[in-house]
Amino acid sequence: MSSTPPPSLTHSAHPTQSADTDPDTSQASATARKSALAALRGLLPFLAPYKKQFLLAGLALLVAAAATLAVPYAFKQMIDLGFGAAGTGAAGPGAAGSGAAGSAAHINLYFLALFGVACVLGVATALRFYMVSWLGERVTADLRSAVYAHVVTQSPEFFETTKTGEVLSRLTTDTTLIQTLVGTSISMALRNILLFLGGMSMLFITSARLTSIIIVMLAAVVLPIVFYGRRVRKLSRASQDRVADASAMAGEILNAMPTVQAFTHEEIEARRFGQSVERAFETAMERIRARSLLTVVAILLVFGAIVFVLWLGAHAVMRGGMSGGELGQFILYASLVAGSLGALSEVMGDTQRAAGATERLLDLLAAHSPVQSVLLPEKLPPRTANGAALHIAELDFHYPSRPEHASLAGFSLDVRPGETVAVVGPSGAGKTTLFQLLLRFYDPQQGSIHLDGVDIRYLTLQDLRNAIGIVPQDTVIFSANAMENIRFGRPGASDAEVIAAAQMAAAHEFIERLPQGYECFLGERGVRLSGGQRQRIAIARALLKNPPLLLLDEATSALDAESERLVQSALEAAMVGRTTLVIAHRLATVQRADRIIVLEHGRIVETGTHAELVARDGLYASLAALQFETQK
Ligand code: ADP
Repeated sequence: MSSTPPPSLTHSAHPTQSADTDPDTSQASATARKSALAALRGLLPFLAPYKKQFLLAGLALLVAAAATLAVPYAFKQMIDLGFGAAGTGAAGPGAAGSGAAGSAAHINLYFLALFGVACVLGVATALRFYMVSWLGERVTADLRSAVYAHVVTQSPEFFETTKTGEVLSRLTTDTTLIQTLVGTSISMALRNILLFLGGMSMLFITSARLTSIIIVMLAAVVLPIVFYGRRVRKLSRASQDRVADASAMAGEILNAMPTVQAFTHEEIEARRFGQSVERAFETAMERIRARSLLTVVAILLVFGAIVFVLWLGAHAVMRGGMSGGELGQFILYASLVAGSLGALSEVMGDTQRAAGATERLLDLLAAHSPVQSVLLPEKLPPRTANGAALHIAELDFHYPSRPEHASLAGFSLDVRPGETVAVVGPSGAGKTTLFQLLLRFYDPQQGSIHLDGVDIRYLTLQDLRNAIGIVPQDTVIFSANAMENIRFGRPGASDAEVIAAAQMAAAHEFIERLPQGYECFLGERGVRLSGGQRQRIAIARALLKNPPLLLLDEATSALDAESERLVQSALEAAMVGRTTLVIAHRLATVQRADRIIVLEHGRIVETGTHAELVARDGLYASLAALQFETQK
C-alpha cells in the first residue's frame, strides 16, 4: 500500500545538502525540525492553487484510514459472531448464540461486510494515491518551470557565480525530493498519524491491560529497529556516494582520453578507478552486514513480541477474559500501530531532505538580477531607414567581480544612423565589455547610453534587445535543423523569410547541399559545420531579426579564402540600412568602416579612418601591422 520510494531514489547527491542530517540528537533535531518547517513554508505558494485537489486527497485518505482501522474490527466480528457461534459454544462474551442456520447467515454477512470494507479501502487508497501523486507531479512541474523561467532572466553576473551544473541538479534532484514530499511523504505522514491514533484508541478499547504491555513492548522493539534502521540508511547513502565518486572520476578521465593515452596513464587511471570501486565495495559490505544484523534482530524482536503478546492473550482467552476474535483484533491493531511508527520515522528523513531542497530552490527563485526593466518604460521612436543613432556618454564600468579594475573608463562615442564603426584594440581593452553594456547585460557605474535618443535604462530589456542584432565570434548552433537554427533570429518568421535571410547571408548554397537541406539536423547530434558556415548561420539569424543596430564580433580564427570572401559579402549585406559596431579583426572590415576607434585599457586612444590612423603611426598602426600582416 505504501508508495514511498526506497531511500536510494530519494537521495540527493547534492554536496551541500545542509539540512540532510539525521535528527539523532534531540537538540539538533529540534532546531532542524523547526528550520525544516520554516523552509517548507516557502512551498505554500506552489501548493495554494490546488486546494481542491488537496481536499479530495485528504478525504480519500480519511476514508482509507477509517477502512483500514475497520478491518481488524470486521475480522473480530467474523471470528466471534461467525465462527465462534458456529462452534461448540466456546463463544466469547460478545457472541450471540443462535442456530446453525443463523450462524451460516452470520458468516455470509460478516464475510460480505469484510469484503465491503476491503472494497472501500481499495477505492479510497487508489484515489488517494492518484490525487496525491498528481499533486506531487503537478507541483514539481510548476516549480521546475518557475525556477527555470526565473533563472533564464538572470544577468551574466549570476552565471559567473552559479555553475550551470548546480542549476541543473537543483532542477532535477531537488525538485524530485520535493515531489517525494508532496507526492508521498505528506500523505504517508497523515495516514500513519491517523492509523497510529486510531489504532492506539482501538487497542485501549479492546484491552487496556494488554495495551499497556504493548506500549512497553513497542518501545523495546520498534525504537531499536528504527534507530538501527537509520544507521543502515546512512550507510547506504555513504555507499551511493562512493559509487558517485567512482563514476565522477571515470567521467573526467573518459573525457580526457587523448591526454591520458598521450601520457600513457591508462594503467595508473585503471588502478585509481579500481581502488575507488573497492572503496565503494567495502562501504556496500558494511551496509550489507548491518542490514543482515538488522534483519535477524528485527525478526527475532518482532516475532518474540508477537509470540509473547499472543501467549498473554491466549491465557486471557482461556480465562474467558477475552474472546478469540478480540485477541485477533488486538494483534492486527498492534501491527498497524507498529507499522505506522516505522513509516513515520521514514517520513521524517524525507521531510528533512525536502526541506533542504526547498531552501536551495527558493534561493534560486530569490536571486534578483541587478539589471531590470523599469516599471514605466519608454518606447523607441519609429525606426528610420538608416538604422539607429547611438549616443554613449562618459561610461565608467568595472565588473562586479573586479571592483578595482575599470574595464571602461570615460568612454564616450556618438554613432550616426547607418554608420559603421570598427572597434579595434589589444586583447582586454574593453571591446566585448562595450557590447555587453549596449545589450544591458550589465549597467555601467557612471555614464549613459542613448539609443535613438532614449536612455536604454528606460527601455524594457525586450525592446532594447529586439533593436539589437548580434553576430558573435563563436556561433552557438542548437540541436535542431538548419531552418530552426536560423529562425532563432525571429521565431515567427516564415520558411520563405528564413530562406531569403539565408540567401542574403550566403548560407543558402551550403544548406541546400546538406543531406536533407534545410531539414538537416545540425549541432551536437547532427552535421558539424565549418567555422565560416557557422558564421553565415549567425549572420542569417541577424538578418532575419532585421535590427536597426548590429553588433558584430568578427571571428579571430582564420578562414580559408573562399569562406572569407563569402562571410565578407554576407557581412556587407547585413550592414546595409543599419548602424553597425564591429569588433574588427580583418583588414577588409577596417578599410570599409566609416570610422575606427582604437581602445586601450577601456579608453578611446585614437579615432579616424584606416588611412589616417596608419599615417599617425600610433597604437593602431602597430596593431594593424601585426594583425593584418597576413591579409595584406
Ligand atoms: P576585449 O574584448 O577587448 O578583449 P574585454 O571587454 O573582454 O576585452 O575585457 C576588458 C577587461 O575586463 C579585461 O581586463 C578583462 O579581464 C575584464 N573582464 C572581462 N570580462 C570580465 C568578467 N566577466 N568579469 C571580470 N572581469 C572581466
